[in-house]
Amino acid sequence: MNLLYKSTRNNDRKVTASEAILKGLAEDGGLFVPEYIPKLDVTMDGLKDMTYQETAYAVMKQFLTDFTEEELKSCIDRAYDSKFDTEVIAPLVKVGDVYHLELFHGATIAFKDMALSILPHLLTTAAKKNNVSNDIVILTATSGDTGKAALAGFADVPGTKIIVFYPKGGVSRVQELQMVTQKGENTSVVAIHGNFDNAQSGVKALFEDRELEKELEDAGCQFSSANSINIGRLVPQVVYYVYAYAKLLQNEEIAAGEEINVTVPTGNFGNILAAYYAKQMGVPIAKLICASNENKVLFDFFRTGVYDRNREFILTSSPSMDILISSNLERLIYTIAGQDAEKNAELMAQLREKGKYEITPEMKEKLEDFVGGYATEEETGETVRRTYERTGYVMDTHTAVAASVCAKYRKDSGDEKKCLIASTASPYKFIHSVMSAIDEKYASADEFELIDELNRVSGTPIPNAIEEIRSAEIRHSRECDADRMKDTVKEILGV
Ligand SMILES: *Cc1c(COP(=O)(O)O)cnc(C)c1O
Repeated sequence: MNLLYKSTRNNDRKVTASEAILKGLAEDGGLFVPEYIPKLDVTMDGLKDMTYQETAYAVMKQFLTDFTEEELKSCIDRAYDSKFDTEVIAPLVKVGDVYHLELFHGATIAFKDMALSILPHLLTTAAKKNNVSNDIVILTATSGDTGKAALAGFADVPGTKIIVFYPKGGVSRVQELQMVTQKGENTSVVAIHGNFDNAQSGVKALFEDRELEKELEDAGCQFSSANSINIGRLVPQVVYYVYAYAKLLQNEEIAAGEEINVTVPTGNFGNILAAYYAKQMGVPIAKLICASNENKVLFDFFRTGVYDRNREFILTSSPSMDILISSNLERLIYTIAGQDAEKNAELMAQLREKGKYEITPEMKEKLEDFVGGYATEEETGETVRRTYERTGYVMDTHTAVAASVCAKYRKDSGDEKKCLIASTASPYKFIHSVMSAIDEKYASADEFELIDELNRVSGTPIPNAIEEIRSAEIRHSRECDADRMKDTVKEILGV
């Protein structure tokens, strides 16, 4: 029997996994969710000796039930190959008394590669299965990392085009260079005059624009999404939590059945939602610790039950988490509302109209698996520096937000369960912030001068992704105002 997917805003229509991946967002503006979270059908003991690719198949086949074994395995093999600089794909590193799950060994050195190296294959397979002959146009809003990972994944993939919007001035220099030097005839990159929330709301509005949909259809195109609103992004992210637990077991760091906590540096709530799904699949995870930077809208939400985006947008040293509207939270809201699409739609309408909503006390009770925390800029920098001084390990600023929150949680709660930290980016990607945290003397240095210095202090090799942009030609220089995104898309597509 196929596992079907519903919109978080309408319970009536159900689609298959491949249809949900193709569409990206439901027609009513809701997000696709599986009717239930499937259980793993292999034991942890069985998973322990599996490779990343084998684990990926064991997890993903439970969600993407209308893909054949051959289709899914082919997608997995094409995704998790030598694009990653290590055979284990996602290494576990013990740093002090916590375990860092390094999710940044792919082509663009941030965790977005974990899902975006497979999404293009899932999408083109889904198009074939559903006899779609239109070109798929991927529209993506990025706070910096998704954009590059999606561009790398979709560049020159036949039958696809990709347009990425990023906030001008809201991403690191390395992130911007990675995007604007992207090769591929089917790629476009646009800097918008606004922040990530403007970019994301603009993209969502384009998805919901029925007139534009018709014009695209006439031109032989249709939109899909590479953002974590696409369920095809989320499912591959469940894999590495299952894999990490199995490896902790294999390395005898934990005993069979032992519960662990997981801390995730959070922006759009995709990565931590994947950990929540892993827990529901059967991974012994106790607490899901949601770590925010100074844009701590989620911390406030877990504390008070009120989600309120009416606040100042702060640019921090962890720019990929500078987000005030966490799209994937909608999937959790729907779940804790007892899969009540009407209730969820009502709350999302309040978010759109007033910028805030409050969940009911019954809903709040169902959040007991989650702990919210946040780290200030100072705490983040301090965590990078002190960890380096004590252990020699250099982590990026996003990961440091999580490490700081995890340490505070342990101290305040006395909860001594072993803790896994989702390590979401290479320190090379946010090199200026990382090096200035280690020593103020680097604050005035140019990002590129610091590359060799980080190589020296950390002893980790300079990733290819960094070598590439040192000399690459700039290929994209388009900019637009946040309210002109539709015209820009039409111009690029020639419709
Ligand atoms: C995207 C990103 C995050 C936030 O992940 P979400 O799934 O949006 O919560 C954290 N760290 C880095 C480096 C990222 O690129």
